[in-house]
Amino acid sequence: MPENMTHDVVILGSGCAGLTAAIYSARSNLKPLVLEGHEPGGQLSITTLVENFPGWPEGVQGPELIENMKKQAVRFGATLRLAHLSSIDLTKRPFALTVGDETIHTRTLIIASGASARWLNLPSEQALIGHGVTSCATCDGFFAKGKEIAVIGGGDTAMEEALFLTRFATKVTIINRSEKFRASKIMLDRAMAHPNIKFLSSTTVEEVLGVEEKDVKGLRLKNQVSGEQYTLPVSFMFLAIGHIPNALAFKGILDLDPDGYILTQHNVFTTLNGQIIPGVFACGDIQDRRYRQAITAAGSGCMAALEVEKYLEEHGR
Ligand code: NAP
Repeated sequence: MPENMTHDVVILGSGCAGLTAAIYSARSNLKPLVLEGHEPGGQLSITTLVENFPGWPEGVQGPELIENMKKQAVRFGATLRLAHLSSIDLTKRPFALTVGDETIHTRTLIIASGASARWLNLPSEQALIGHGVTSCATCDGFFAKGKEIAVIGGGDTAMEEALFLTRFATKVTIINRSEKFRASKIMLDRAMAHPNIKFLSSTTVEEVLGVEEKDVKGLRLKNQVSGEQYTLPVSFMFLAIGHIPNALAFKGILDLDPDGYILTQHNVFTTLNGQIIPGVFACGDIQDRRYRQAITAAGSGCMAALEVEKYLEEHGR
């Protein structure tokens, strides 16, 4: 493409939301440019079997699903680039995106840069992601059937996921680094009332065991009060210690909520000081802290692409 051309649409992010937006806008002949971002393929690219995406009765591997979406987008004319945004200027039209030394101009923008699960960042944890270490109970709970497992975190998500996981696991141990649980009383009471949920507070995970076997065998824990270390035999570790929206580049440029998620109106319209910014849309986990599912991200990616088409049509393209 000529360097000085103005794109009709640039999509930031290549997870479910971004790629669905790419498929739809490519099929509208808008030749979308997708900047794949820091985590190409998004959260699905680090999961294993996805069993709840409609249309795959036997399930599909997350990376395969993403690869297929990419092929589908490219088939209709999308361009995917392994690049990420350095800065952005939405005050002029066309919008100017800086990517390394390059400036890219676009009439519309779809932000689908997602949210990243927060991890403990232990080397053993990172080595076992997808092999018993996961951040998605909805996706992976089923695989914990008949097993003893651990949920890390002490907030509402940890309680909710632990309760959900009792449908599958025989025993769930919630491990909280602080003495006090951050969860609301109602959620904490509910979890505490469950006979198959046990609690460990003031306890940190020092190591996930099973790196050599490529399968979680247990956790080496440390009691923060006594300093004692011991092993808890579990087959799964579910992280529920929060998500980080990938919206740093938009601070002061778009309205964000206090945790940094992009605020939207009518599903995908972005705002600044409460006023809609025409031509700039956000979809997927960057603006959804509630559902965070592949299918809901895909759905909002579709909405964003349809709004782009409508906007361009209204502006004579
Ligand atoms: P959260 O309330 O921020 O809790 C995060 C938990 O993770 C805390 O227990 C925190 O421990 C722990 N944590 C953070 N970083 C950690 C680390 N590096 N190592 C170990 N532990 C770490 O997050 P959340 O539970 O995801 O909830 C987010 C928001 O969604 C909350 O407002 C919550 O109420 C809401 N939510 C509501 C519902 C519901 O109402 N049904 C369900 C889910 C979520 P510390 O306390 O020690 O910092």
